[in-house]
Amino acid sequence: MKLLKKKRKQRAKISIKNNLSPVYSQFVPRVLRDWNLASSIVVTENGSDSIQVPIDNNYYGDVGWVGVANISYNGDHISNATVRINDTYMKLARYKNAEQQQFVVTHEIGHALGVGHQNTTFCDQNVGSVMDYTAQILGGSHSCGGSTVNFGISNLNPNPNDIGTVNDQNGHNH
Ligand SMILES: [Zn+2]
Ligand SMILES: [Zn+2]
Repeated sequence: MKLLKKKRKQRAKISIKNNLSPVYSQFVPRVLRDWNLASSIVVTENGSDSIQVPIDNNYYGDVGWVGVANISYNGDHISNATVRINDTYMKLARYKNAEQQQFVVTHEIGHALGVGHQNTTFCDQNVGSVMDYTAQILGGSHSCGGSTVNFGISNLNPNPNDIGTVNDQNGHNH
């Protein structure tokens, strides 16, 4: 008689290769904590997993992006990704604060895990997602684009939709 073994879903093991300057590197533990809420993945720092996500920062110039994630796919699964943070913008007063730095690092790692934007309007209510563009990461009532906008809640974390996307992307067998 054959033993019926319950098939256990393998979690995708992803390692962030941290080449960041200390100013950004300090935000990586929160990135790991936040995205590891997704049950389909295990994200570690500087591990030897087959999926490698190097992240670095440099002065990439006035190129139109604060951060960028370039992703390679094997079928519909991410095989690796590269994340870059652009100091050309991040050193400007507007970006030079802890929540902006945390937001950009968590946001770009989100892209590297296959998560897209939830909203790309800066002057509207936050959906509570780090994948939602906003002029006020921490929420609250502020002037924006000439009028007062109630931004509501903080956008500093992934929300359940983001976590669901990570699980859709990584949590299925072929
Ligand atoms: Zn698949
Ligand atoms: Zn983005």
